[in-house]
Amino acid sequence: MTLEQQDKKYVLQTYARDYTNFVKGKGSTLFDENGRDYIDFASGIGVNSVGHGNEKLATAICEQAKKIIHISNLQVIEPQAKLAQRIVELSGYDMGIFFANSGAEANEGAIKIARKYGETQFEKKKFKVITLEHSFHGRTITTVKATGQESFHTENFSPYPDGFSYEKCIADVYTAIDDETVAVLIELVQGEGGVQPFEKEEIQNLATHLKKEGILLIVDEVQTGVYRTGEFLASNLYEIEPDIITLAKGLGGGVPIGAVMTRHKEVLSAGDHGSTFGGNYLSTAAGLAVLDVLAPMYDNGTMAETLLYFSEKLQEVSHKYENLFEKEVGLGLMRGLRAKSAEVQGSIIKNALQEGLIVLKAGRNTVRFLPSITISKDEIDEGFSRFEKAIASL
Ligand SMILES: *Cc1c(COP(=O)(O)O)cnc(C)c1O
Repeated sequence: MTLEQQDKKYVLQTYARDYTNFVKGKGSTLFDENGRDYIDFASGIGVNSVGHGNEKLATAICEQAKKIIHISNLQVIEPQAKLAQRIVELSGYDMGIFFANSGAEANEGAIKIARKYGETQFEKKKFKVITLEHSFHGRTITTVKATGQESFHTENFSPYPDGFSYEKCIADVYTAIDDETVAVLIELVQGEGGVQPFEKEEIQNLATHLKKEGILLIVDEVQTGVYRTGEFLASNLYEIEPDIITLAKGLGGGVPIGAVMTRHKEVLSAGDHGSTFGGNYLSTAAGLAVLDVLAPMYDNGTMAETLLYFSEKLQEVSHKYENLFEKEVGLGLMRGLRAKSAEVQGSIIKNALQEGLIVLKAGRNTVRFLPSITISKDEIDEGFSRFEKAIASL
C-alpha cells in the first residue's frame, strides 16, 4: 500500500491534500523522501515560526521531554508561569493568560470570558459578539459560528450557538452595537480571508469607541501574533489596548499551544474554564524557546531586515507580473499577491510546488506567503527565483 492509499483508507478525508512526503527540514527548506528540496514560504500555515530543525527549539523540547512532559493543571507548572510572564512582558499589556492547545480553543476561551463579563458586569445581561465578514476564528461549533463566512455555517452542523453577527466593515460595527452587545471580535490582518490588513486609524477609533461604550475588544492574533507582523503582537503595531487577545499558531514553533490573555483577570474563577493538556511542560517549554530565538532577533534589528528584504522581493514580482496580479496585500511576513482570478491563484500554487516552492492560498484569489520569521536571505532569493519559474508560463 502506498502512503497515499494508506492515508485515504485510514485517515478521514477532511483535507484536499497534496501527497508529497516530506521527511526532514532545515531552516526554511524541506526535503521529500526522494531528497528533493523545497523552499517553505508557508511555515505550516504560520506555525513554524523558527523554521524546521531549529537547534534551540529541538533541544528545549528534548530536554523537557526527558524531565517532565505533562502533569495536570492541578499542579503549578514552572515553564507555564514563565511563558505567561514572558508573553505579558513582551506584549506590554497588564494581562493574565490561560493556555489552551489551538487557535479555536483560545477563541473559545475569549468568548467564555466575554460572556461571563457580560453576565456579571451589567444589570442587564449582555452576550452578543460582533465579528466581521471574511473573518476566520476556528472550526469548533462556536468559533465556526463566530467566523464571518456564510459558507462555513452549513446546516450539516446546526444548530449553532446564538449571539453572533457579522458586519461588512469596521464602519458598520458602530451601528450594529445594541444593548446586548458584549464584545467585538476581529483580526487586525484577516489571514484566511485574504491577507487583508485594516487601517490603523480605523482600528484605533473603534478601540476608543468600544472602551467608551464599555464593550470588550477581542483581537484574534492566532495568525498575526508572535512577530508575524514585525511587532510581537499586531495590537502593538496598531497601538491599541485590547481587552482580550488570543494566540496560537507561531507560539510553539509547531508544538500545539494556544493562549487567551486578558486585562480582566478577575472574570474567570476556579472551575470556570480548563484544559487537560493546556500549558503543559512540553508546550510551554517550546514556547519559551521560540521566544528566546525570536525576541533577540527583534531587538537587534535582524527581523526588521528580513521583513524589508522579503517585502522588496515581493514588490518586484508584483510589478513585473502585473498581468497576473491585481495588487500586493498584507504586512510583515504575512503577505499576499491578489491574483487576477481564482484559476490563476490555483495554477500558481500548483506550479510552485512543482518548482520546489510551498505557498498558500487565502480568500478567493490570493496567493499567500507566511514564511518562518527566521528565513534567510538566501532562502528568500531562492524562493522567489522558483516563484518566477512557476508563474513564467502563465
Ligand atoms: C488558524 C486560525 C484560527 C484557528 O486556529 P486552530 O489552531 O486551527 O484552531 C483562528 N483564528 C485565526 C485568525 C487563524 O488564523
